[in-house]
Amino acid sequence: MRASRFITTSNAPASTSSSRLKDLLASAIGLYRHANCHVTRCFRLARYPVAGGQFKVCAKHHPDEQVRAGKVSHEHILRLHREHRDRVAP
Ligand SMILES: [Zn+2]
Repeated sequence: MRASRFITTSNAPASTSSSRLKDLLASAIGLYRHANCHVTRCFRLARYPVAGGQFKVCAKHHPDEQVRAGKVSHEHILRLHREHRDRVAP
């Protein structure tokens, strides 16, 4: 009789529910630490890169007033894009 290639005979113990919970918790903490604002003790999610992409901050800590006010218009994005383009390739 031929054994199926999907059946394994591993001797590794099955993970317990508490170890799975610890793994999930560690993953959640890692994801949060990766995605939160780079300002010390700020718990908000970092959505906006600043300083040439070196840091990511939340809307409250962004240096641009329009981002802090939550009023980013298409014209604002176009103006910043043109300024960046002129700086990089005049
Ligand atoms: Zn922040």
